[in-house]
Parts: sequence; structure tokens; C-alpha cells
Amino acid sequence: MKILCVGAGLSGAVIGRKLAEAGHEVVILDARDHIGGNCHTERDAETGVMVHIYGPHIFHTDDAEVWDYVNSFETFLPYKNRVKTTSRDPKGELGVFSLPVNLHTINQFFRKTLRPEEAHAFITEDQADTSIADPQTFEEQAMRFVGRDLYEAFFKGYTMKQWGCHPSELPASILKRLPVRFNYDDNYFFHQFQGMPENGYTAMIAAILDHPGITVQLETSFARDQAGDYDHVFYSGPLDGYFDFELGRLGYRTLDFERFTHQGDYQGCAVMNYGEVDVPYTRITEHKHFSPWESHEGSVCYREFSRECTPDDIPYYPIRQVKEKALLSDYVALAEKTRGVTFVGRLGTYRYLDMDVTIREALDTAAVFVEKGTAPAFVMAPL
Ligand code: FAD
Ligand code: UDP
Repeated sequence: MKILCVGAGLSGAVIGRKLAEAGHEVVILDARDHIGGNCHTERDAETGVMVHIYGPHIFHTDDAEVWDYVNSFETFLPYKNRVKTTSRDPKGELGVFSLPVNLHTINQFFRKTLRPEEAHAFITEDQADTSIADPQTFEEQAMRFVGRDLYEAFFKGYTMKQWGCHPSELPASILKRLPVRFNYDDNYFFHQFQGMPENGYTAMIAAILDHPGITVQLETSFARDQAGDYDHVFYSGPLDGYFDFELGRLGYRTLDFERFTHQGDYQGCAVMNYGEVDVPYTRITEHKHFSPWESHEGSVCYREFSRECTPDDIPYYPIRQVKEKALLSDYVALAEKTRGVTFVGRLGTYRYLDMDVTIREALDTAAVFVEKGTAPAFVMAPL
């Protein structure tokens, strides 16, 4: 069959590869001038540093099959994400603290020397607001589990900058992604498998796309009337964009990256967050620390600013509040009436998806198509 994949990011590449291996003729197109979608990496011409062009990407998963899959296309070298944050302690003094909140953070922040059990008792008995039985909002979740001091220093300001609203308007689920630990483990993620592709994500995605059954066309925007030329379309662009935004626009946050260079080591780590609301950026990424096996004198850093996404911006984070979910359900209804198109990935299903989940869903979606010779509008329900 003739298959079109819209988008040469992870979703389009993984689905395209599986279908090409099953003997289908696959065309993959992307509006951008490069493959890789938002995972795209590129060597900086000035410094030679491998840069994560659309923001920092760390691969982490518990899914052994996905880990084997990525390792079959690219060498992954060990990398643990150790994030730091600059904020003020309870006395108002600026300091650098370890994230996610762990024993080091607690002892530094409160100027204590607590052991794990003492720290646990201190946070749960002296800091946490135990009157909150069932936290619903981000703010309640933070107040319930770490208490006001840590919440205000590390989460309140950062979250207001990141999401453009007060944490009391956001769901608890956003904060649940971050652990609180009563030991000195400062690994940002819990996952069993973590690493960084030796030659960048774009090299990995190029290897996935390297199959005689796949043709890639860059700088080519999809138009809906092209769908008729194919037996099936896998669409990883924005769901509302497929329908020319006829019901309105789904809300996103976008990011602006302010690039600067430095000779030597600018901040000593890959990611430094800024917890204070009056520092306008959320974090600074120093890309060379993502490749600790390389050595570069020069350094490339990105200051990251979050703001509302306008029609001319790149949509990054789906907002998925009540208003957006209502509009989403109307688009889902439209999509379900559309024949021969499967909506996939981060934008096609309007969900925040880590890379491992994106790959897992793409493999599962391709498997449905290979088995049945067709696939529904959504293999992964967006609601
Ligand atoms: P995308 O990468 O967005 O690809 C979609 C592609 O479709 C794009 O290339 C786009 O140009 C193209 N396209 C869209 N519309 C059209 C059209 N009409 N015509 C032609 N082409 C079109 N995940 C992790 O696991 N770890 C991380 O540390 C991590 N960090 C992240 C940091 C940021 C700032 C962001 C935003 C995401 C992060 N992610 C991370 C998630 C990761 O980026 C996604 O899992 C992944 O990019 C999803 O791949 P995708 O193919 O679904 O979408
Ligand atoms: N967050 C925060 N302070 C930090 C880091 C994260 O308040 O220093 C909040 C913020 O609201 C963010 C959420 O926790 O959206 C999840 O953090 P994560 O690092 O998973 O953010 P993402 O990778 O989605 O940018």
C-alpha cells in the first residue's frame, strides 16, 4: 500500500520504518528543512557542540523493548540528568540547590544536617500541610508534600513562568512528574534506562529513516487534498491544523531560546533552573554537558523563555485545561469521521509525550496497521 506519514519526527519515522519493513511504500514529509522533529540535534558551527535545537532532550525509559529499539539505531552513552536550581532560601539568600527535592536540597535549604528518617519526619510533620487530604491542584500537591517554603522557592515562580498562570489553576498531575527523595539520589528521573545518543537524536532518526521503502521530502507542507493519493495517512502534525483550525485553536505554550556562547564552562551543569518569578527565563541549558565524552573549549547556552503560543509560533506544551479539553473533544469527533487518517504523536493527539512513550505508541500503532491493513483515527485516545 501507499502510505503517507506527515512529520519526520519520532512518530513519523518509527511508523514509517515499521510499515516499510512490512513491505509498504512510504512517503514521509516535513514542513521543516530537517528531520527529527523537536528532538532535532545539530552541531554548532562556531563551537562544535552538539545542540538540542528545540530544547533539552534526555532519553529515559523503563520500556526495555523501546530501549533496545533506540540502541539498534544509535549508540547510547550513559547520561544521568542532574538538575540544579537557583533560588532563595527561607532567609531570602540566593543559593544553588539540587533538584528534584532530595536530602541534599532539604539540608542545604533549611541549613540542617538531617538523616533520611529525620528529614522525612521534618518535611511530613513540620513542613507539609496535612490538612489537604486529596490535593487537586499543583499548589495543593506542593503544599501537601513539601510545604510552603520549598514550594515558594522552587515551584511557584518557575511554574508561573512556565505555564503563565497561578499554580492553583493547574492540575496536581504536572507536579506528580517530579519525585521527592529522602536520600542523596539527585537523578532527575526514576527510570531504569537512561542515556544520550552519541551522535545526537537526528543521527538516530536518520538511521531509522534509512530504508529503501522510505522517501523523505523536506520543506513540504501537507495539504489535506494530498490524502487522496495514498491508501492511508499517519498525521503527526497539530490536530486542529489538520482541520484548518475551523473550530478554533488548541492552546499551547511556546518557547523562545536566547542563544549565547561562552569560552570554557559557563554554569558547570547541563540544566540550571531559576525558581524566582522575577528572573524572566525558566532555565539555562549548557549543551556541551549533554555530551560529557566530548571536549570543547567553547560553549553554547540557551536561556529558555516560555509564553503563550500564537499562530506564528512552534507549539510546544499542550495546555489541556478544561477549556482546551472541551475543544479537543470537538476535534476528536471531527477526526473520528475522517476516513483513512490516523492522528499520532505529541501534536496529533495533543498530549505531552516523552520520547519513549512516543516510540512505544508509534510501534503499537504500526503493529495495528500491519495486522489489520487499516487503523482508526486514534490508536491512542487523546482524551
Ligand atoms: P514532533 O517532534 O513535534 O514532530 C512533528 C513533525 O511534524 C515536526 O517536524 C513538524 O515540522 C512536522 N509537521 C507538523 N505539521 C506539519 C504539516 N502540516 N506538514 C508537514 N510537516 C508537519 N522527551 C523526553 O523523553 N525527554 C526529554 O528530556 C524531553 N524534553 C523535551 C523538552 C521540550 C522543550 C519539549 C517540547 C519536548 C520534550 N520531550 C522530551 C518530548 C519530545 O520532544 C517528544 O516526545 C517528541 O518530539 C515527539 O515526537 P513527534 O514525532 O510526535 O512530534
Ligand atoms: N517545575 C517547577 N520547578 C522546577 C522544575 C519543574 O516548578 O524547577 C514544575 C513545572 O511546572 C514543570 C513541572 O514541574 O512544568 C514538571 O517538571 P519537568 O521537569 O517534568 O518539566 P518539563 O520537562 O515538562 O519541562
